Amino acid sequence: MSGRIVKVSGPLIVAEGMSDANLSDVVRVGPQHLTGEILTMSGDLASIQVYEETSGLGPGAEVVTTGYPLSVELGPGLLENIYDGIQRPLEELRRISGHTIQRGVFAPALDREKKWEFKPCVEVGDEVTGGTVIGTVQETTAVLHKIMIPPIFSGTVRSIESGEFTVEDTICTIELPDGTVREINMIQRWPVRVSRPYIAKFTPSAPLCSGQRVIDTLFPIAKGGTAAVPGPFGSGKTVVQHQLAKWSDVDIVVYIGCGERGNEMTDVLNEFPELKDPRSGESLMKRTVLIANTSDMPVAAREASIYTGITIAEYFRDMGYDVAVIADSTSRWAEALREMSGRLEEMPGEEGYPAYLASRLAQFYERAGCVECLGGDGRRGSLTAIGAVSPPGGDTSEPVSQATMRIVKVFWGLDASLAYARHFPAINWLTSYTLYQDTLKPWYDTNFGPSFLKNRERMMSLLQSEAELQEIVKLVGQDALSQADRLTLETSKMLREDFLQQNAFVDLDSYTSYGKQMDLLALILKYNDLCKDAIDRGTDLDQLTGIPSRERIGRAKMIPPDEYKAAYESIAKDMAREIAEISGGGDEE
Ligand code: ADP
Repeated sequence: MSGRIVKVSGPLIVAEGMSDANLSDVVRVGPQHLTGEILTMSGDLASIQVYEETSGLGPGAEVVTTGYPLSVELGPGLLENIYDGIQRPLEELRRISGHTIQRGVFAPALDREKKWEFKPCVEVGDEVTGGTVIGTVQETTAVLHKIMIPPIFSGTVRSIESGEFTVEDTICTIELPDGTVREINMIQRWPVRVSRPYIAKFTPSAPLCSGQRVIDTLFPIAKGGTAAVPGPFGSGKTVVQHQLAKWSDVDIVVYIGCGERGNEMTDVLNEFPELKDPRSGESLMKRTVLIANTSDMPVAAREASIYTGITIAEYFRDMGYDVAVIADSTSRWAEALREMSGRLEEMPGEEGYPAYLASRLAQFYERAGCVECLGGDGRRGSLTAIGAVSPPGGDTSEPVSQATMRIVKVFWGLDASLAYARHFPAINWLTSYTLYQDTLKPWYDTNFGPSFLKNRERMMSLLQSEAELQEIVKLVGQDALSQADRLTLETSKMLREDFLQQNAFVDLDSYTSYGKQMDLLALILKYNDLCKDAIDRGTDLDQLTGIPSRERIGRAKMIPPDEYKAAYESIAKDMAREIAEISGGGDEE
């Protein structure tokens, strides 16, 4: 049975005669079978969000429910792909319909023709449950795709294949407890608004290493954690997210572009396939899935894209991988939510956003985390969620920023004035925070020793003192400061310029290993300590700032990864000698 349209309002349509349908069902609308999703039901009236342009649709047009909620296809072929918000493969659509994608065109998310080399790892007679890995497919050179039993089934393996298969071919049959036999292929379908099940969630315990010094040392995010990057236009959100996508030590990256500006997504689409994975030297796409909302898709599709992306990420986490989801930007997503809510004539909350804005954002970020995966082999995976927020005018008191800040544990606040001063990444060290320092402490203590966190603490307090001293300098001038305070200003300047500033576009600077970050910080603090002792002995700071090693520290971040250890040791040694020569100390070495 099918319903009929009674009203069209932009991406929202209302249809009558829909009593057969359920809330959240996917429907096909009008003669072109446009894809839509039921948002509310009242009697036999359904309000439907349509993911494609609705022009030309009018009252009387047919609406048919598929009986299924909005779902994604999961299986080999996800990686290297570029999807739109409802998981239509963009390349394939372009092939079918040319450069402007026509409405109603359909292509399956996973290639039906391509054959994959499937290597089984279970045998006939084995007991399997939801999540059991039954075999693997080398999907790309970077990723081994584990084929799992869908979460809902368990039983005994009756047959298992080996060799080349398409995603639709049966590769395994299992006998369920009730005696029925179930055929398993390499596709799983999963409703995007429901999180995929796992056995247990854990507190994250290891940091995600991004190679970005301000992030890793000052405001680290745990693998399985949540972070937000708010910032006004031009402050470097996109660069930060690209750096994270490029350098993070995760196995899979899902990048969701919710359409910042018209051409921004094009940038991503052009740039990403060109980027090389710095570790393997291969295209970064080999471990990446891109979700892009192209300009020919209405805003409603943005709303779905967040869920599509995180569901794909959960699926890879189920295999036991470390996955990162990067959403750019959640503000655009929230605007889509606001637009639909307005058309549904719901009671508006703050600034016209629906009252459920905060809970929807929470639902997205809550799907992050470290979990023990289904399947009984104890494997663990993590999903890290990072969302950009683009508050209008950079004012973070607006609802999306505020709601996000209440949920996420890490906040990298980008600052227009730092960007203007060309301090990049323009992450403001006074307003940003991480709530993971306690959870990560055991990891740091074990891997780097207790000095790492102590040095971080010292760095934070120096930078805070600098901000306070700068206020005093503004009032009474630099001359009024004591030698010790002037040293604080000097060291902080080094911390800012020689440590925090990091040029994403310079090869040797773009990525810094954790070990190098730790040693570089220690080197700058060592300069501070030696100068402090010298000042205590009566030496004038001006004499100390001119020593040759001071300049060498300025260039220390650019020393190649395999040379920095020896170089830093030599700088530290020379620095102690130079300072001793000036101050007459001599016991530093
Ligand atoms: P947004 O996405 O917030 O509008 P972008 O990420 O496009 O801002 O950054 C704007 C510009 O700032 C970039 O084109 C680049 O020139 C500069 N920039 C941002 N971050 C860095 C960085 N880490 N290193 C060097 N330049 C940067």
